[in-house]
Amino acid sequence: MGVFNNEILAKFVNQIDSECSRDFEPAEICECLLLDMSDIYQIGKATFEFIEPASPLRPDGIHIEKVVIDRNNSRFGDMYQYYTQTGDRGSFKIVTYSMENVHWTDIEKEEIEYILTYFYKTASRYVITKLLRKSLAMDMMTGVYNQAGFLAYIEKQMATKQAYKYYTVFLNVRNFGFVNKVFSHQQGDEILRKYAQAVNALVEGDEIVGRVGGDNFVVYVHKDNIDRFLDAVDKIVIEHDFEGVYRKFEFPSIKGIASMEGLNNSHDIMNKCGMAYQFARKTKSGKAYFARDLYEKVMKQQEYVINFTEAIENEEFVVYYQPKIDVDNNSLVGAEALVRWQRDSQLIMPMEFIPSLEQNGSIRILDYYVLKKVCEQLDRWKKNGMQIIRISVNFSRKHFEEEGFVEKIINIVSSYNIEPNYIEIELTESDSYQDYDVMSKAVNQLKAYGIHVSIDDFGALYSSFNLIKNTGFDIVKIDKSFIPKESQYENREKEFTLFRNIMNLIAELNMESIVEGVESVEQLEFVKASNCKFVQGYLFDKPMPCEEFEKRLGDWKYTIPDEGM
Ligand code: C2E
Ligand code: CA
Ligand code: CA
Repeated sequence: MGVFNNEILAKFVNQIDSECSRDFEPAEICECLLLDMSDIYQIGKATFEFIEPASPLRPDGIHIEKVVIDRNNSRFGDMYQYYTQTGDRGSFKIVTYSMENVHWTDIEKEEIEYILTYFYKTASRYVITKLLRKSLAMDMMTGVYNQAGFLAYIEKQMATKQAYKYYTVFLNVRNFGFVNKVFSHQQGDEILRKYAQAVNALVEGDEIVGRVGGDNFVVYVHKDNIDRFLDAVDKIVIEHDFEGVYRKFEFPSIKGIASMEGLNNSHDIMNKCGMAYQFARKTKSGKAYFARDLYEKVMKQQEYVINFTEAIENEEFVVYYQPKIDVDNNSLVGAEALVRWQRDSQLIMPMEFIPSLEQNGSIRILDYYVLKKVCEQLDRWKKNGMQIIRISVNFSRKHFEEEGFVEKIINIVSSYNIEPNYIEIELTESDSYQDYDVMSKAVNQLKAYGIHVSIDDFGALYSSFNLIKNTGFDIVKIDKSFIPKESQYENREKEFTLFRNIMNLIAELNMESIVEGVESVEQLEFVKASNCKFVQGYLFDKPMPCEEFEKRLGDWKYTIPDEGM
C-alpha cells in the first residue's frame, strides 16, 4: 500500500482555493486543472459537462460541454469519471482517461478522485455563495436587479469614476393595471416578467436594469445610447397567450432621466430621476430630464407641504379681499376671499403653494380655514355695526373626494351669527362626469341652506354648458381668458358676438354672471355691452388686506377714468 503524494495534492488544493476565491469561472478553473493534472497523471483525454436549468437567477441556464484534452485518437488505458446530480435537473460531469498503455495505480486513482471531488465541492460552494449574493440583489419575479442590487451596482460604478458617462432612467409602465384586468394577477406577473426581460435585452456592457416595486423600473444607460434606448423601450411589444386568450400589448412608459454627473451617492440619483419622473408625468412626450431649476421648484413645493401644518397653527395664512362691482352704478356688491401665505417677511401668492397642497390634499384644511376666517370677519363687522356684503370663498375640487364636506361648510357657517346668504362658495369645473352627480348634490344642499354657489373660471377649461345646466349653480364666473386682450382687437367683432351669446345663454338659464379680470376701461365697455352686470378686476381693485377692504364697506362708489370712452 503506497501513500498519497501530499505535495502534489497540496498544490492542487491551493490552486483550486485561490482561483475559486478570485471569482474565476468554474469552467475555466476546471480546464486549467485538467491540463495541469494531465502531465502528472498522463491523461490522454479529458472532457467535462456542466448543466444547470434556467431559473430567475440564471435566466439562460447553463450548459457547458468541452473536450479539454484529446491526445490518443480514442485509444486509452484507464477511465475515471466524476459525476453528480445537482439540484433540479442539473448535473456536473468530468471524465478523464489515461493515455494508451498507461495504467493508474490505486493511489493515483484515489488522488484523481480526491482532486476532482475537492474541485467540485469548492467550486460549487463558491458558485452558491455568489448566487446567494446575487439573489439578494435580484428581483425574483422578473429576473432583473432589485432596488438594493441596483443601488449597490451604481455605488460600485461611482467608485470607478466612470459613472458620469451614464444616465439613470426611472421608468413607469403606463396603464399596466389594464393587463391585470384582462388577465389574472398571476398572468400579469408573467407579462411584467416578459416586459422586464425585454427592457433588459436593450441594455449592453455596463448598463443594467432594476425593478423598484410594482411596474416601476430603473435603468442605468450610457449617454451615447440614451436616445436609442428611449426610442426602443417605447416600441416594446409583449405577446401573451393564455387559455385561448391571445393579446398583444404595447407598453408606452413615462420616463424621468437624470445624469450621474457630479453625484457621489446612489440615493441622490433616485431622488433626481424620481423628480424628473414627476415632471415627465405632466408632459405630453412622457419624458423629462432632470434640471437644476426643476429640482429647486420641487424642493420648494415639498417645503410648502412640510411647513403647512405649522403654518396653519401659527396663523400664517391671511385672507385678502377683492371687490366685486355692479357696473350699473359702480358700487361695491361683494368680494372674493383670496388667501396669501405670510412667511417671515415674505408674502407668498396662492398659485405658488396651492398646487402642491392640492396634490397632497391639505388644501381642504386650508379652505375650511379661510371660510372660518371669512365668517369670523363678517361676524365682527356686523357686531361693529358695519354694513356687510356677500363674500365668496374658493373650494378646491379635492373636496369632492371627501364625505360630508357640505355638512362641514354648513357647520362652520352656522356657528357664526351671520345669514348664510352672505357666503358664496366658488367651485371649479371638472372634466369627470362622475363628479357631476357629487357636484350637483353638493350645490343643491348648499343652496337649500341658503349659501350661494358659483362655478369659477368658466371658459378656461371645459366650458360645459351641460354642467351649468344640470348641476344647479346660481352664478357663473367667466374666466379672464374670455375677455379679449388689446392685441386681439382686430377680431373684436367675432369675440364680441361669442361673448354676448354666452352671456345671453347664461341669462336664459336664469343664472347670474360675473366677469373676472377686467383690467381696462375698454374691457369694461366690452363687458357692459354684453349685458353683464357684475365684474371683478384690477381696473377697480386688486385683492387687498382686510383693513384696507374695510374702508370700502358702506356706500362705496368707484369712479372710472373716462379714458377710451
Ligand atoms: P381665482 O379663483 O380665479 O381668483 C382670481 C385670481 O385672479 C386672483 O389671483 C386675482 O388676484 C386675479 N385677478 C383678479 N383681477 C384680475 C385682473 O384684472 N387681472 C389679472 N391678471 N388677474 C386678476 P390670486 O389671488 O393670485 O389667486 C389665484 C388662484 O388661487 C385663485 O384663482 C384660486 O384658484 C386660488 N386660490 C386663492 N385662494 C384660494 C383658497 O382659499 N382656496 C382655494 N382652493 N384656492 C384659492
Ligand atoms: Ca375664484
Ligand atoms: Ca376665477
